[in-house]
Amino acid sequence: MHTILIRNALIVSQDASRRVFRGNIFIEGDHIKDVSAPGKEDGADEILDASNLIAMPGLINTHCHVAMTHLRGFIDDIPLSGFLEKTFRLDAERTDEGMYNSSLLGTKEMINSGITSFLDLYYGEDIVAQAAKKSGIRAFLAWNTLDQDKTTQKGNPVKNAEHFIQEFSKEKMITPAIGVQGVYVAGDETYLAADDVSRRYSTLIHGHLSETREEVYNFVKGHGGKRPIEHLSEIGFLSQRFIAAHCVWATLNEVRMMAMKGSRVSWNPVSNAKLGVGGTAPVPEFVSNGILVSLGSDSTASNNSQDIWSAMKFGSISVKNERWNPAVTNAQMMLDMGTINAAHSLNRSDIGSIENGKLADIVMLDMSTPELIPTTPENAISNIVYSAGTSSVSDVIIGGKFVKRNHRLLDFEPEMFRDANFY
Ligand SMILES: [Zn+2]
Repeated sequence: MHTILIRNALIVSQDASRRVFRGNIFIEGDHIKDVSAPGKEDGADEILDASNLIAMPGLINTHCHVAMTHLRGFIDDIPLSGFLEKTFRLDAERTDEGMYNSSLLGTKEMINSGITSFLDLYYGEDIVAQAAKKSGIRAFLAWNTLDQDKTTQKGNPVKNAEHFIQEFSKEKMITPAIGVQGVYVAGDETYLAADDVSRRYSTLIHGHLSETREEVYNFVKGHGGKRPIEHLSEIGFLSQRFIAAHCVWATLNEVRMMAMKGSRVSWNPVSNAKLGVGGTAPVPEFVSNGILVSLGSDSTASNNSQDIWSAMKFGSISVKNERWNPAVTNAQMMLDMGTINAAHSLNRSDIGSIENGKLADIVMLDMSTPELIPTTPENAISNIVYSAGTSSVSDVIIGGKFVKRNHRLLDFEPEMFRDANFY
């Protein structure tokens, strides 16, 4: 089995006691065999001198639409309603080749920025899966569903999702799941059918929820005063399998309903603010009620970067500012959202931290880049959250394989995308 020794790194472990220490990481095959104090040297097939590197668990992006990466910069500066109208129209005309190329580009961008796992929501996830496998990233892919009369998918969306789950259930790097686009295009029947599939196959269920005030008000008007989360709770949809993206417009009552059912929130602070959804998700209330919160980039059309650095930094800052309180979030809390809490949200105990026996999804940050000087064990977590960026990422290992090495993304040539068909 292939072995890698990461020698003398500053390890930000994200283990149960959140230890930060100097040590070696020994990788065997796809998992971490041993995390030990420096000095204990075993031979390995590859040895990486990490004395100037931070080793941290790979970042986990819990909401995106990676097949839309090619829309970067083309739908900026308009409200969400117009944005959705335009993206729905463009989505309807996609080819398999276009979706593949766009997904390959998006997964490469994520790897470059230190993301080792992502949760995607789209139709055509079988195509996204091929691109993810080519990139070497760990992918959680939720086939999107909506009401039959509102979809451009061929056939029945719930059946399509079920078929996708059956087809990809045995894959190592791909975890199939089901999605629901949102209450504005999916009625109770679709929500309950999707939930039924998710229960029968023990998959995650992922969807947009209470993203804009307009969406919530329209729902309330059509449902006798009931709010979306309140309604989904009443029909029995909320569960531990559900990861809801956004939840910007959740009331305290709705937060408690989600907490009671163990549903999770994927917070997308950059996308939300860029789309001007107003207000900020009630993250302190999510956290104090025990809801698992993780971070998402959302699509490149609304962010416009596939990275978690900006989500950690801007998310934290936006809540501090809104609550007039710099202590309402802290760096450790944000790093937890980007790593271990995201892993738990995905119902996975084998990723999200650097510990013996876990999968080797590891990101190295170069402490000699200007933005990380000075870094010590005392300020490492602050520097990761408030100073690091894609330019700090020197190496990325996913499942025991290097996918970025010495600041260079492997198996990537910009020429690959120069004349590529993205539509
Ligand atoms: Zn989204």
